[in-house]
Amino acid sequence: MGLHPHEHRWLKRLNHPPPPPSDWHLRTGTQVLQAQRTDPASGLTPEEAARRLTAHGANELATQQARPWPALLLDQFKDFMIGVLLAAAVVSGVLGEWVDTLVIVVILVLNAVIGFTQARRADQAIAALRQLAAAQAQVLRGGQPQPVPASKLVPGDIVLLEAGNQIPADLRLLEAAQLKVDESTLTGESVTIEKRTEALVGDNLALGDRVNLGFKGTTVTNGRARGVVVATGMGTELGKVAGLLNDAMDRSTPLQLRLARFSKQLSLIVLLICVGLFAFGLLRGEPWLLMLLTAISLAVAAIPEALPAVVTVLLAVGAKRMADFNALIRRLPAVETLGSVSVICSDKTGTLTQNRMHAELVLAAGQPWHPAKVEAEQTAPSPHHLQLLRAAALCNDACPSGDCDDKGHIVWQGDPTETALTAVAAQADLLKPELEEETPRVRELPFDSDRKRMTTFHRDGAVFEAFTKGAPESVLPRCSAHWSPEGRRPLDQAAVLAEAERLAAQGLRVMAFASRAWPQLPAEPDVEAIESELALIGLIGLIDPPREEAAAAVRDCISAGIRPVMITGDHPATALAIAQRLGIVANDAANVITGAELTELDDAALKARVLDVRVYARVDPAQKIRIVQALQSHGQFVAMTGDGVNDAPALKAADIGVAMGKGGTDVAREASALVLLDDNFATIVGAVREGRRIYDNIRKFVRYAMTGNSAEVLTLSAAPLFGLPMPLLPIHILWVNLVTDGLPGLALAAEPAERGIMRRPPRPPQESLFAQGLGWSIVRIGLLLAALCLGVQHWAIQSGDTHWQTMVFTVLTLAQMALVLAIRSENDSLFTIGLFSNKPLLGAVLLTFALQMSTIYVPWLNPIFKTQPLPAWELGLCIALAALVFVAVELEKAWRRHRASAAAPSAPKASAA
Ligand code: ATP
Repeated sequence: MGLHPHEHRWLKRLNHPPPPPSDWHLRTGTQVLQAQRTDPASGLTPEEAARRLTAHGANELATQQARPWPALLLDQFKDFMIGVLLAAAVVSGVLGEWVDTLVIVVILVLNAVIGFTQARRADQAIAALRQLAAAQAQVLRGGQPQPVPASKLVPGDIVLLEAGNQIPADLRLLEAAQLKVDESTLTGESVTIEKRTEALVGDNLALGDRVNLGFKGTTVTNGRARGVVVATGMGTELGKVAGLLNDAMDRSTPLQLRLARFSKQLSLIVLLICVGLFAFGLLRGEPWLLMLLTAISLAVAAIPEALPAVVTVLLAVGAKRMADFNALIRRLPAVETLGSVSVICSDKTGTLTQNRMHAELVLAAGQPWHPAKVEAEQTAPSPHHLQLLRAAALCNDACPSGDCDDKGHIVWQGDPTETALTAVAAQADLLKPELEEETPRVRELPFDSDRKRMTTFHRDGAVFEAFTKGAPESVLPRCSAHWSPEGRRPLDQAAVLAEAERLAAQGLRVMAFASRAWPQLPAEPDVEAIESELALIGLIGLIDPPREEAAAAVRDCISAGIRPVMITGDHPATALAIAQRLGIVANDAANVITGAELTELDDAALKARVLDVRVYARVDPAQKIRIVQALQSHGQFVAMTGDGVNDAPALKAADIGVAMGKGGTDVAREASALVLLDDNFATIVGAVREGRRIYDNIRKFVRYAMTGNSAEVLTLSAAPLFGLPMPLLPIHILWVNLVTDGLPGLALAAEPAERGIMRRPPRPPQESLFAQGLGWSIVRIGLLLAALCLGVQHWAIQSGDTHWQTMVFTVLTLAQMALVLAIRSENDSLFTIGLFSNKPLLGAVLLTFALQMSTIYVPWLNPIFKTQPLPAWELGLCIALAALVFVAVELEKAWRRHRASAAAPSAPKASAA
């Protein structure tokens, strides 16, 4: 099928920047729909959408291309010292030592391949994460609203928008209810713009004035709308102004920056030592070429230039693993900082509770109706109950999903509060679609969490009926009477509020319903005027059980020194009841503050109380930021959840913003470092645990690599001082570096979490990587390792053993294998954690051992590696010396355990309860 002439124009626009100004805002909705050849009621067919996708390309802004693999491979050779080593190897080859040259080149290539595989793994993990984090849009395709990846949108698609959505492409709006859009990403002006749908007139209207268009990348802050896509990808207004996208994933983490600085400083020291070694060798009359190669090989081996890169691998692979259990990392630094979280502020609904609501009690005119009762015990609902249920069904945005459950009940889709209400109405045979046919909705004031209520208008013959539903304290003050089938009756507000309070204290979410008759539709959508003079119909109590895993996660938090805090828009009594059930608070209400009380407290007063408060109820999202700041002023490291548009500032201000993947808005996700794909509190706690594990493993890798490197530097630089010949040849140094740093080091990433990882307090965020004795341990064990190498060299030379160099070479390699096994846990002995609990590492150690043995015992490798086969007793001696390193590290750990248990009774409890 050929392209429509119109599409030719589109393609031209996409291919020839700058595109001509579009005039969609000047046309009527119908004209735009005709031009886009689409049906506003059913959208494009999937086939047509696929065809247009091929024609127009993905709805994406150009980003930096992923590095192609040859460039990545070449990157590995860019290091200055490697270049110098290659040059020196070539010189040595020219002078006749071509085997040496060849081996050095082979080793460097192998090294590069390892580096390359690591970089690829990190890149792939990050790409996979980015894929998971990709935005979705609600699109009408083939008559059904469905989530579609935003990148797959095409011109002509009908997109549904609601508050919190990021607009996924340029849209011409067809319907808009109270739609307000924040266009600051595009225009830089932070005023929200009210959108309309009529065609506009006027030439050269600025973007901000084209109020019937929705622009890609801007966000809906209020209301809902439906629009047709008129431009995608680089053809959108954002595409025209945006350069390359800034990608949060690519940013270096604080730890990486610190490590990069540290390894630069260390490199200088190592370089100085190498120059000294070279000069000293020349003075002693060693061959200059050999000394040059030795010095440079040592520099290549000991300069920790790979540290930041390995950290990236550990973080990226860790983040990928977190995604497997529903914790999606949006900013890499969060992986390392998660371990420092000391407070988790969590929403209640859906995060701590199941968000699977059902109506427990329908209360009209003081008479209860229990929908949960079995049919045999069920009484028929009174006319008053029926009116209440009618309001519940009509003032409601849920819709039938088209499926039935196994009991034959309709399955509803939409907000759980609302689906529970349509379901309970359906139980009394009041089906929302049928009711809407009789009394169609003609206008609405959508729900927002500041008002805590919503209103819908319905045409009832020649007149109109408005229904309002919301939180009792929000609806009741707007009621002036009690509804009854006979007409309006006096209302005792205090009595109804007390009743609502009593139900809330049982953990129920209580909703109030009211109505008002209108002879004609009010002219202005003025919220204050419309939502007044209401007649209260009744209350419905919904139950939302706590998530099963939440109580255990709360216990984990407390034992890990993390304060769990509940922040909810719900009623304080409901919130307290649930918080008690979950163990967030003990049995007293002193730990609860409401939004209204919060407004009364100034910053100093809030700071004084904030560490004791565990439940914030009826809080506006805008108040969350004050809670974050008050906690941070105590040095707390705060994780904060959120899902709505208004949560974004608090999510940004928190140390770790956590957004909901299922229920949350695009705006909240954009502002967050972590997205919970299952909206589950326990997942945050899991992510903290994983963050701690990854950080531990980074420390282990650094300990391992730095101890080995320092041992190599010490051995080589101290030997001449003791009058010993060079203990190792360049090829030995490079080999040790290759086999020890390569596989075993990386296998540390697979190290399982330490026992008791959630029983220790959070790590202070500014704590150095070398804290808690790590730095000194590196020096101590490095010295021991060097002493063993020099000792065996000295002893062998003294006793006339010609194998001394092979022995030093073997001790150095095997001792590092012993080291990596011993440092697998910072506290526990290898025998406690079990040899087999990290099989990749065990495999790497065995492989390295086998490789080392082959350099000694495979005859044709002897001349290449300049080694000699060791008799059994000499090999045994090497193994025993290497084992000493293992014993030393185990003794260090035993000493630390002993000190910890001696200090335990007097140490403050980690518990924050
Ligand atoms: P959390 O902050 O823990 O998610 P929440 O869902 O109660 O709790 P909001 O969504 O801000 O927070 O809701 C605040 C209050 O508004 C609710 O307690 C309820 O009384 C009322 N409410 C919630 N959803 C609706 C709705 N769809 N229509 C009318 N009122 C609602």
